[in-house]
Amino acid sequence: MKPRELIVCRDVSLGYEGQSVLTHLDLTIRAGDYLCIVGDNGSGKSTLLRGLLGLLAPQQGEIWRAGELRRGAVGYLPQQTRAQRDFPATVSEVVLSGCLNGRGMRFFYSGAQKSRALMNMGKLGILELKDQCYRDLSGGQQQRVLLARALCAASSLLILDEPITGLDPAAAQDLYKILSYLNEKEGMAVVMVTHDLKTALRGARTVLHIGRSSYFCGTAADYLASPQGRRFREEEA
Ligand code: ADP
Repeated sequence: MKPRELIVCRDVSLGYEGQSVLTHLDLTIRAGDYLCIVGDNGSGKSTLLRGLLGLLAPQQGEIWRAGELRRGAVGYLPQQTRAQRDFPATVSEVVLSGCLNGRGMRFFYSGAQKSRALMNMGKLGILELKDQCYRDLSGGQQQRVLLARALCAASSLLILDEPITGLDPAAAQDLYKILSYLNEKEGMAVVMVTHDLKTALRGARTVLHIGRSSYFCGTAADYLASPQGRRFREEEA
């Protein structure tokens, strides 16, 4: 039996102001998947993530989301802007803010939410940084903090947009290891947009390549054998 479906896109078109960026896309994301979304700049990767998150309604077709993902229960790591890197809050405040969706009308975080934040900081090895100011951290530490924040919201799916941009190779490697751990040991589905295909393909099981006029969606091995993916195999040789 196949794992349960989390998000199903059926013949979906997405875009802005009547202009389509993506058309006729079929895609199923299941529990425990590890999907890398790749394609040229401007091909529509971030637009697709917005659609998957429910932030952008399809112009055509349907994006079905499992009940467990409604009410914001998806961990989302957006691309970081310069202003966000300078955010003047402590690490624990940033991580706890990931619980905002579950706070409802209450003004304070519950004990359970604080425990969840502490647990996620522990999981990502940033517990000792909890009282430090977020903006004083290295890029790699900041990404761990944002990932811990995303995990506070995530029940079964993490969506990441270019998570290793600006990280040095060691910090990037570190982040991939954490993602593989979360995917393999905790069953967290991971959907990631990335430029760093060569490394990302080691963890990803499925690849969606958004081309100019077609899509490739298949296993990482099939992607490397496909016309679109072949160049990454040659790079590796
Ligand atoms: P990618 O993430 O693959 O680089 P994007 O999804 O960001 O691509 O962008 C796809 C296309 O949609 C681009 O042509 C971009 O200019 C356009 N676009 C992105 N965001 C908006 C927006 N908010 N309003 C109008 N057009 C947009």
